[in-house]
Amino acid sequence: MLRILALIYKRLFEAFGPRHWWPGETPFEVIIGAILTQNTAWTNVEKAINNLKSQDLLTPERLKHLPEDELAELIRPAGYYNLKANRLKEFIKFLFSHYAGDLNQMFNQDMWELRRELLGVKGIGPETADSILLYAGQKPIFVVDAYTRRMLTRHNLIEKKTSYTQIQDLFMTNLKQDVQLYNEYHALIVQLGKEICKSKPKCDICPLKNNSGYTNINYPFAPKI
Ligand code: SF4
Repeated sequence: MLRILALIYKRLFEAFGPRHWWPGETPFEVIIGAILTQNTAWTNVEKAINNLKSQDLLTPERLKHLPEDELAELIRPAGYYNLKANRLKEFIKFLFSHYAGDLNQMFNQDMWELRRELLGVKGIGPETADSILLYAGQKPIFVVDAYTRRMLTRHNLIEKKTSYTQIQDLFMTNLKQDVQLYNEYHALIVQLGKEICKSKPKCDICPLKNNSGYTNINYPFAPKI
């Protein structure tokens, strides 16, 4: 499995190059983006973040004092804005109650313990928690998303019912625990899923098709790469 995962990475990196993900000027901005990006395209999140930035609201302290309905209005472009405003407020509440509003303090916490705490915040699931840990906290944890699952399933590397944790373990037990590697790998899979391995896969132009040109999506490509 190590060889397969390493080859997938190599091929994606050669095809797409470094992704420079996650866009965000500060860890706090990355966290806000990770919460806002649930069920929406990144371009919409950017608009919402720009609204917050233009009013100089992208700090824990300022968001803490901003009324929830005003926050909802500002993040409207991200969709589900009332729900997401509530989620942002829940995170801010957690940050102040556990870490005095200080992100450095929060990220000094043991990674797995912090993950457990984040999963206790309303609206934060495994993918969002892991995105926060990896991209805002620079912690060596692998982010799994729907694109990851789809690519692995199509190549018979996992089963449809494989859990989030099992997929994460697959990467984390086979690859070295490296923030930069995990950062790049997830970003490359996102690029693959958005552009090529879509609901209707474009196997003929995919960097993961095997050398013989065999593109049957049910074929495990490992032996032929
Ligand atoms: S070869 Fe096809 S199924 Fe495999 S990752 Fe590429 S597009 Fe998806």
